[in-house]
Amino acid sequence: MSRVVMPKDDPTWRFALGARAESVGILLEMQDVDGQIGLGYASEVPHLGYNIDVMEAVVRSQVPAILAAGPLDRRSLVGSPWKQQLPAPVRSLLDMAWHDLVGKIVGVPLYRLLGGAENVSLRVNRILALKTPDEMAAVAAGLAAEGYDHFKIKVENRPQSLDIARVAAIREAVGDKAVMTVDANQSYTAKEAVTFGQAIHKYGVQVFEQPVPQRDIDGLRWVRERSDLTIEADEAADSLEAVVAMLRKDAVDAVSLKLSKLGGIDSLLLAANLCAAHGIPSRIGAHVGSRIMNAAALHAAAALPHLEPFAELGEFARLQNDCATGLEVVDGGITVPTAPGLGVSLV
Ligand SMILES: [Mg+2]
Repeated sequence: MSRVVMPKDDPTWRFALGARAESVGILLEMQDVDGQIGLGYASEVPHLGYNIDVMEAVVRSQVPAILAAGPLDRRSLVGSPWKQQLPAPVRSLLDMAWHDLVGKIVGVPLYRLLGGAENVSLRVNRILALKTPDEMAAVAAGLAAEGYDHFKIKVENRPQSLDIARVAAIREAVGDKAVMTVDANQSYTAKEAVTFGQAIHKYGVQVFEQPVPQRDIDGLRWVRERSDLTIEADEAADSLEAVVAMLRKDAVDAVSLKLSKLGGIDSLLLAANLCAAHGIPSRIGAHVGSRIMNAAALHAAAALPHLEPFAELGEFARLQNDCATGLEVVDGGITVPTAPGLGVSLV
C-alpha cells in the first residue's frame, strides 16, 4: 500500500464544499502466490467523510487479517453488499484489486468477467470548477476544442444570479449542441433550487445534480416534483441503503454511481440494477483520482445495459503524477481497455 499525491493542473480548482490543489489516494497492490499483482485505488473524499489517514489505518489494521484467509476469498474481503464492516472506499479498494487480479490470472479483461458488452465507449462529462463566468466559459471552450461535448457546471448559490451567469456564459462558449448539467453539491434549499432550475432551463441544461443537503430526501422529492430538469442524487446516494430509500420515496429522476460511495463493483452494479428496476436511469459519476479507479468504473459501466451514455471518467486528465497508465480520453470519449483485468498498468 502506498499514498499517491496527484497535483491538479489548476491549483485553484474549487467547488461548493471546498478547494484543494491536489487529489490524494491509496494505491493497493494485491499479490497472489504466483506473483501476479492486482491494482486497487481509492481517493480521499473529505466532503463524504473519507479521510486518507483513517482509510490507511483501516487497511493496515484490518486487511492483513482479511487477506490471511487467502487473497482470492472475496467474501472475506468485502463481505456481502448489504452487510458491511469496512468503510465503503476501503471495500472498493480491495474489491478493485481483487477484480484486477482475477482478470489477470484468467487472462481476460474485467468487463468480460462481468458479462459486459464489447468495445463500450462513453462520452466524457468534464467538470468545470467554480470561477468567474468568463473564466469558466474559457475553460469550457478549451475543452470543447479538445473534442469534449458534455460539461458539468459547478454552482454554489453565492448568489444564485452568479450561477445563472455562469450557465449562460458557458452555453455561449460551447454552442447549442453540447450537453450541460449543473452540480450544486448541496448548496441550494429546495425552494431556491426550483427557481434556479426555472432560470437555467432556457439554456438547455439537462441535469441538476444534488441541489439540496445530502440527507434531505424529502427536499429532493419536493424539487423533483416542481422541476423540468432531471434531478440527480450524488452525495445522497452514498450507500445501497440510501439508494433504496430514495427509490422507495420516488425522490429523484437519476442517480450518480461511484465505486467509492457504494463500496465496489458488485455494489455499484446492484445499485444500477435497482435503479433500472424502478425506471430510474443511473450514470457513472466522477472518479477523481488515478486511471486505475476510472478503468474499474468503466469496466463496470460496460456491464450495464441501461446506463446513461455519458460519464465523469476523464477527470484524471487534469491530475498530474498518476501512478498508472493505459487509459486516455480521445475526442471527448473513453473506451473500455481490452488488456487483462482492469487493463491499466503501473507507470
Ligand atoms: Mg456531484
